[in-house]
Amino acid sequence: MTYEECRTLGHSWSFASRPRKEGNIATFDLRCARCEATRADAVSLTHGGLAARKYVYRSDYQYKKGDEVPSRDQFRLRLIAKLTKKGD
Ligand SMILES: [Zn+2]
Repeated sequence: MTYEECRTLGHSWSFASRPRKEGNIATFDLRCARCEATRADAVSLTHGGLAARKYVYRSDYQYKKGDEVPSRDQFRLRLIAKLTKKGD
């Protein structure tokens, strides 16, 4: 799986389930439609502020320490190349 779209455009989040309520916190479970990353946003039911946020990515999504990380510009160019490749 390649991740140029998510790295260029951001993730495509949708609700994975209904919000869960525990005490004074409601948690939204989200999943990216493209790369299957998940995000959990814990929201205070008192003031609506974000209490915590957690992401989980596929094992090959994140770069490892010491890897050269392409810039956002490089990801844009890769995405354009991918989307304009002849024969697709
Ligand atoms: Zn994604």
